[in-house]
Amino acid sequence: MQERFCKCGHRLKVQYTLDGFIPWEALILNDESVESPVKVCPRCGTYLSIHFLR
Ligand SMILES: [Zn+2]
Repeated sequence: MQERFCKCGHRLKVQYTLDGFIPWEALILNDESVESPVKVCPRCGTYLSIHFLR
């Protein structure tokens, strides 16, 4: 589990699926509800990609 930040500053957690068939796949989790993977930032609505997070 790693912390990443959306460009708006919203904190997210990234869980890499190391044991999957696609080892580079990652789940981007809302910090407020870690059980719910998100595809867009809950604050600003920006589409989230692991490559775009900082
Ligand atoms: Zn954002």
